[in-house]
Amino acid sequence: MNNPTEHIQKQDNQFIHPWDNFQNLGNNQRTVVEKGDGIYIYDSQGNRLIDGPSGMWCVNIGHGRKEMAQAIYDQVMQLPFTSPWSMATSPAAQFSEALAAEAPGDLNHVFLTTCGSTAVDSALRFVQFYNNYRGKPEKKKIISRLKGYHGSTYLSASVSGKERDKNYLDFATDLVHHIPAPHPLLKPDHMTDADFLDQCVADLENKIIELGEDKVAVFVAEPILASGGVIVPPKGYHKRCLDVCHKYDVLYLSDEVVTSFGRLGHIFSSEAVFDIVPDIITTAKGLTSAYIPMGAFLVSDRLLNEFNNPDIESAIFSNGFTYSGHPVAATAGLKNLEIIKRENLCENAREVGAYLQERIKSLYDIPIVRDVRGLGLMCCVECELTKGADDLEMDYEIGERIDQHCQAMGLVVRPLANMCVISPPLIITKAQIDELVDILYKGVELAMHDCIADGKFKNV
Ligand code: PLP
Repeated sequence: MNNPTEHIQKQDNQFIHPWDNFQNLGNNQRTVVEKGDGIYIYDSQGNRLIDGPSGMWCVNIGHGRKEMAQAIYDQVMQLPFTSPWSMATSPAAQFSEALAAEAPGDLNHVFLTTCGSTAVDSALRFVQFYNNYRGKPEKKKIISRLKGYHGSTYLSASVSGKERDKNYLDFATDLVHHIPAPHPLLKPDHMTDADFLDQCVADLENKIIELGEDKVAVFVAEPILASGGVIVPPKGYHKRCLDVCHKYDVLYLSDEVVTSFGRLGHIFSSEAVFDIVPDIITTAKGLTSAYIPMGAFLVSDRLLNEFNNPDIESAIFSNGFTYSGHPVAATAGLKNLEIIKRENLCENAREVGAYLQERIKSLYDIPIVRDVRGLGLMCCVECELTKGADDLEMDYEIGERIDQHCQAMGLVVRPLANMCVISPPLIITKAQIDELVDILYKGVELAMHDCIADGKFKNV
């Protein structure tokens, strides 16, 4: 085979990708990405594309950072690995101290993992461990929200609430219970904002009462439901949910895998944006800007101080990974934090993020656009061909068409079905936002015209 792109695509069909359709294995022709630089990636045909989702909400400092590569190289040459069970390394120690210093309240201890899923999984296992130690083995149930995404281990996937992902896989259905997402689009027309907020908070309280407060261990919530379509809850939602949790001795786990490391203009957003100090925070993605995989959960001293029962000999948390606190990943994390701070990327995310939110509203002019929403450097444009219809096939089709048109004009969108999610690298400028929004506008418009030509959209 002479064409290198086709050759890679053929080889790639041996790679089972995440969320692959097993009925279509061997028939995919994915875009081959060869290089990244700043906010751009380059495909194997030499096309330059704006990295709209920054990989998957993760390349926060942008591509092609030489000083990051150098730091990683130096650490590999110094020491690639040693066992985290028995040894300490300076990068893991320094990074844990730095994360604790950035975290809100008394979240002063850090459990380093390999990705977001293992961060959420480990944090939930910690909650079970904590309640068993406290002599409350019945207090185990987990409450999370529909449309939430928390990962792809058995437990973190069970906690996720994206119905469309729950087809031929099994989940821990006895343990995990879902309440509705606090999605402003779900507010009935006749309801006031204040009543809607009350209802969202009551969903949590009623679920705790229904399951029994002695049975519920933890509430898991993303500050903004990211993969569910950038759902920004009503103002005050998290604070009121935290109060409900405190009332029933239920822990609050804030899943900041997406919303930390500058995405919303702060290293952690729980307190800075949503005014809560949770019991546990999970993070990953922007933690190392994806240069090396890593995740973490941070836990409060208040919880750790309870491991002090003189009648119990030890409390070994038998959970961890060969690569917990991997020195090369921790080095990448330290360098990432240094770059974010030195280049004021949180400030940039706040300023340019506000500009993005303003500019993206122009898409409301396109008839198939149902909703435009977001905060900071994350936003979503939701399209709809038939008002109120829940038509998965049509949703995927419109998303794919938008993606194709945008890609042809130089923008990667990665739609989640009918929702185009934008979360560019934090280094993006206002001029680049203009370029991004202009392409997205045209892409959505062209996709709509395709659908009109096919008779799939008539409301014009
Ligand atoms: N939690 C949230 C909020 C996420 O968005 C994700 C991934 O998208 C995860 C957890 C899982 O992270 P990972 O894919 O790194 O395992």
